[in-house]
Amino acid sequence: MSEIRLEKLTKRFGDFTAIEKMDLQVRNGEFLALLGPSGCGKSTTMNIIAGMESPSEGTVYFGDRDVTRVPMGKRGVGFVFQNYAIFTHMTVRQNLEYGLRMHGLPAAQRKRKVDEIAGFLELSPLLDKPTAGLSVNILQRIAIGRSAVLEPAIFLLDEPLSNVDAAFRSVMRYELKQLQRRFRQTMVYVTHDQLEAMTMADRIAVMDQGVLQQVGTPLEVYNNPANIFVANFIGSPGMNLLKGALTSRDGRPAIAFEELDQTIELPDELARLAEKRNSAAVLYGFRPEEIELTSQNGLSMKADFLERIGARTILHLEASGREVKAVFDNNVAVQLDSMVSFRPASGSERLFDAQTGARIG
Ligand code: ATP
Repeated sequence: MSEIRLEKLTKRFGDFTAIEKMDLQVRNGEFLALLGPSGCGKSTTMNIIAGMESPSEGTVYFGDRDVTRVPMGKRGVGFVFQNYAIFTHMTVRQNLEYGLRMHGLPAAQRKRKVDEIAGFLELSPLLDKPTAGLSVNILQRIAIGRSAVLEPAIFLLDEPLSNVDAAFRSVMRYELKQLQRRFRQTMVYVTHDQLEAMTMADRIAVMDQGVLQQVGTPLEVYNNPANIFVANFIGSPGMNLLKGALTSRDGRPAIAFEELDQTIELPDELARLAEKRNSAAVLYGFRPEEIELTSQNGLSMKADFLERIGARTILHLEASGREVKAVFDNNVAVQLDSMVSFRPASGSERLFDAQTGARIG
């Protein structure tokens, strides 16, 4: 019942296509993050799942039930928006139990459920306080609690943490995850923040310009991005991508970077896949976190800039207008303006077709 299936979902606003033929399955009890940049169609997708908007084409299923034309109130979904909507003339408890009252639940059961949710969301000490004057952080917590207390089988959250402050956001990430573990709802969570998606979701659906790019676990989309959009969008910083051409060096497969006037050896497996695809022009991808400093078989670029961020250092390397970012811990000893030799850790290199952007291997 609480599996969600979107089939060939398309949404047009006049001439503009906001979602294009989207197929997506959200499994029963799964926490799925819908991730993508602003304007990519995340909220429109959510609104269609919730029943606030109807698709131009395509079908929405909850389990085997076609709910495409079922109005929002009859879908039995919980929905939390970016902007909390709570009743300011009521206490915290009255807000939390509002929906339960509407459903005619007896007082003892209301109290039990509200107390449990308040415990999860650390609202217990505030239950009898008026909501007027509470911080934005707390108000959003109440909004989440008010939906969660109804234990909807499908729980939709559209950027619920974008208005709360950074420290609170990380606490809330943990609490939401705990909440979902306890109630095992099917949760769809819209965010443009890849860190939020990576830390919370069982699987991530990455969207760009109305088109679903990839669905996978956080590790799958990080390690094996389907294309250069996902490679760049996931990770902070995103994957390095250098344009090159297949060649050979001392009888071994390699990539030549014309702009850099350098080559690097390519693992046999990747070379075979590239040859099969007949991709002459490729993008050589490697994660900033998987770079080793080495004087052998590497690339050489100038250390341009060091960004020290807490326990990490991001080293910006530059050559012929091309930039590579490398992430190290703070012990890295690199002189600014010196030449740095490096290569991706063995097995971490990825190859993409330069024309289509699709991953080759
Ligand atoms: P954001 O994070 O900024 O909300 P999003 O990924 O959720 O972005 P949507 O809100 O789904 O994106 O919007 C997708 C595209 O559809 C945007 O270009 C938006 O301008 C357009 N759009 C959304 N609603 C309407 C509407 N009612 N009429 C016309 N265009 C719309």
